Amino acid sequence: MYGYRCEYCRGTVRPRRIARESFKHRLGFIILEDVTIGVCDNCGNRYYNADILRTVHEIASGKRPAETTAVIPVAHVTPAG
Ligand SMILES: [Zn+2]
Repeated sequence: MYGYRCEYCRGTVRPRRIARESFKHRLGFIILEDVTIGVCDNCGNRYYNADILRTVHEIASGKRPAETTAVIPVAHVTPAG
């Protein structure tokens, strides 16, 4: 399913197993663990297959329960002054 030409350069998209990959969905922030994604071996652009995108959408929209919920630190930048 990977091994195709990158959309942005002449590189090749290779499968890579990622311990924790974060996704910014319009309904929320999702993290998938131990997920195999496609990464361009030249420019590093990341590619997600349909299964990954569906899983992200199902969890973000509440159709499928998450296995665990992480607390994500939120802050504003303090100017150095
Ligand atoms: Zn590329």
